[in-house]
Amino acid sequence: MSTDKPNAQATRIIHNRRHRDGFGSPYSPVYNTTTYRFPDTGAQREVIEGRKPGYLYTRWGTNPTIQELEQGLAALEQAEAGLAFASGMAAISATILAHGRQGVVCVGDIYGGTQELLVNHCQPLGIPVTFLLQANEETLEASLTRPGMLVFCETPANPTLAITDLRAMARVAQKHSALLAVDNTFASPINQRPLELGADLVVHSATKYLGGHSDLTAGALMASAPLTDTVAAWRKSLGQLLSPETAAMLSRSLRTLPVRIRQHNENAMAVARAMDGYPGVARVLYPGLPSFPGHNLAGEQMSGFGGMMTIEIAGGGQMATAVADNLQVFLLATSLGGVESLVSQPSLTSHHAIGQEAREVRGISDGMLRLSIGLEDSTDLIADLTQAIDKARGTGKPHS
Ligand code: PLP
Repeated sequence: MSTDKPNAQATRIIHNRRHRDGFGSPYSPVYNTTTYRFPDTGAQREVIEGRKPGYLYTRWGTNPTIQELEQGLAALEQAEAGLAFASGMAAISATILAHGRQGVVCVGDIYGGTQELLVNHCQPLGIPVTFLLQANEETLEASLTRPGMLVFCETPANPTLAITDLRAMARVAQKHSALLAVDNTFASPINQRPLELGADLVVHSATKYLGGHSDLTAGALMASAPLTDTVAAWRKSLGQLLSPETAAMLSRSLRTLPVRIRQHNENAMAVARAMDGYPGVARVLYPGLPSFPGHNLAGEQMSGFGGMMTIEIAGGGQMATAVADNLQVFLLATSLGGVESLVSQPSLTSHHAIGQEAREVRGISDGMLRLSIGLEDSTDLIADLTQAIDKARGTGKPHS
């Protein structure tokens, strides 16, 4: 089977690591082992000394179940290699420690946990960190003051869904001998493949769309083999590997990723259209709406607009809280990318700690509600939102 056709992504994801175990099972068993037995010391030494390939110890990354997952992760982003981690933050921290020690430049808004890592831990270690909220080619160029720096970016960004021009960032990074790392969690590899746009490394919180069912915590890195090899050494020393059982669950999730993302995209578009102009909704931030400031750029670098959106409720924070509390199908919970729809109010949750002033700089208002649109019937999601908004505004139908 040819796997290099551009439209073969779904086929490749399902068939790239077909297992042949003699029993006919299409998939491998889970290798729940920490160690591997050798027939004699000579054979063990051959592996320890690198003269023969072989399995020694699972924490080092040598486990058939985890390696099979990593082949699947690489296939998703069309990367040469993939690495699996115990969480998204494990993938991000190992990547920054391996490739960002000359300095990290963050383009646009980034996940709060990544910001915490950079400010609370990397800066005190002496790693220079620059935050470029309003980045363009000129400001990035001015920030890349020495070779070997790491540009880190997230697009679409949380919670404003702001879109960063990845081709432009990659051009500038390359010119200054810097690497470009992209957190592709919000888009998923079905909707956006940063390596094809010029990025060097892609990270994911696999806890989100890749896992897709809000039941596992994992992370991923996809890049060329030389770049992942350097990160793998950090992962080994920091002990950031996930368990074989979680790896098997994640491998299973990947097989349905294309069809799940297609439905997330479709549901989100339907909800965004219904919310756009709905009484009590001041603004809808969704890359798929022509009114969204980054709509054209998103259309150029994404193949789908994703399942994440933010609606701004007219009347401010208290009104938004009332809407969130009135929702019955959406769950009031952090995280994203699962089959169930979630709502959170960034000013009270993910962006509470940074304070009002920093939120204003980022364009995050108290009235915003971030929605992770799940796989329920979109008419039920729209009905839930409209009843919650109507009730908060006092315009809903009274219960008989
Ligand atoms: N990147 C993004 C965009 C996220 O939203 C998150 C978590 O919410 C992370 C990274 C961290 O992932 P994890 O919680 O799996 O460590």
